[in-house]
Amino acid sequence: MSRGNEHDEIRERLALFVAGALAAGEEDRIARHTATCPSCAAEIERWQLISGGLRQLRTPQPSAALFEGTRALAEAELAAQTERRRSRIVLTLLTVFSWTITIAGWPVFRLVTSGLLSLLDIRFRELWILFAIFSALTWVAGGSAAVLLSARRRHERRLA
Ligand SMILES: [Zn+2]
Repeated sequence: MSRGNEHDEIRERLALFVAGALAAGEEDRIARHTATCPSCAAEIERWQLISGGLRQLRTPQPSAALFEGTRALAEAELAAQTERRRSRIVLTLLTVFSWTITIAGWPVFRLVTSGLLSLLDIRFRELWILFAIFSALTWVAGGSAAVLLSARRRHERRLA
């Protein structure tokens, strides 16, 4: 790389160099260049003056009201996240529960209806339809329970 190109390239990165935002290898390269380049050395001094001046400026402090408002917002968001996570867990459990009922329900259903079956002479296919209705009702009940649970929890939180 020609000296002119390197100078231009390094010139652009001097501010980052002063801010300490460069990788060690690159810092070495810039230090080597500025040791032999008075123009870049002077530029570094200017940047150091600016960055020293910025550091001396008082860091603006947020007002108490802004701080309190932000904290309240963060807390509300956190609570909402917890609520969403809890709803997901409840829904998962209800889904598992519904499946268990559906799967375990079939033999029970057969048992209970076997008496009816002989009385009413319901065929196997029709029994499946009945079971499907029974399962759908279980799912609806599970879903309603989830909705009710989450609504009640939200209501309780409002009262608290
Ligand atoms: Zn230079």
